Amino acid sequence: MPSRPIDLHTHSSVSDGTETPAELVRAASAAGLGTIALTDHDSTAGWAEATRAVAGTGVTLVPGMELSTRFGLNSVHMLGYLFDPTDPALVAETARLRDSRLHRAERIVERISADYDISWQDVLDQSTNGATLGRPHIADALVARGFAPDRSAAFAGILHWRSGYYEPHEAPSPLVGVRLIRDAGGVPVIAHPATHGREPNVSEKGFAALVDAGLMGVEIDHRENTPAGAARLRELAAQHDLIVTGSSDYHGEGKPNRLGENSTDPRQFERIVAAATGWTPIVG
Ligand code: AMP
Ligand code: FE
Ligand code: FE
Ligand code: ZN
Repeated sequence: MPSRPIDLHTHSSVSDGTETPAELVRAASAAGLGTIALTDHDSTAGWAEATRAVAGTGVTLVPGMELSTRFGLNSVHMLGYLFDPTDPALVAETARLRDSRLHRAERIVERISADYDISWQDVLDQSTNGATLGRPHIADALVARGFAPDRSAAFAGILHWRSGYYEPHEAPSPLVGVRLIRDAGGVPVIAHPATHGREPNVSEKGFAALVDAGLMGVEIDHRENTPAGAARLRELAAQHDLIVTGSSDYHGEGKPNRLGENSTDPRQFERIVAAATGWTPIVG
């Protein structure tokens, strides 16, 4: 019997997914997945609930995170797997990131509210207490107010970086992100690095520098990587002997991405587990 699919990138309501960690685990089980990684943006707050939820389901949980980093104007997302969630440097940096995201979201909403009838409370109503806040929650508030039909439309319009309302949040460089995850015993995998055209969001030289800093893998099978970009990433992965992953980047109802729509080869997943020293998968 072929092994059940391994999906290494999902979000819960701890960040911008629409399901609680326990609901997400149930959805993964119902979808027939064998393994899921919980990778909320800049937070490990869902690990405990997801760990309890996998018990008895037969689903293996890989605790992780999607760390926000930035290189110039480029947002670079760094997946981290099986690190120590109490690592002081990582805890401090993610707290700083969430705080910066909160104040940045407040400022974006303040600008939007000059033109649309929307308040900060509308955004809070669309998020759970302590969640990593981002434009998705503002998008949901705009949808609830009738200013956009869905999240994607809000991103294409009012929340677009060229809309005049946008500003970035603070973020460490990708190099710092890789080191933080490695120093916490985790496995860094660069997320969906080729969402525009042929070239990844980091240059060939930048890629080599990330590998020198400890980058261990690259997420290639992801719906937002372009086919040409994915082909280029395969060359880079072979050149640097990187772990290659595939994932859904599921956000519940927040995005069209479905659980298991892309998955990771079991041999590649084994490389992640073998390299991690901060935490272990939880076999449900
Ligand atoms: P932020 O980090 O606050 O700038 O928002 C970016 C986040 O919004 C990403 O992590 C995605 O999960 C989400 N996102 C980006 N584009 C879209 C879209 N078109 N529809 C829904 N969610 C999106
Ligand atoms: Fe997201
Ligand atoms: Fe991402
Ligand atoms: Zn993601």
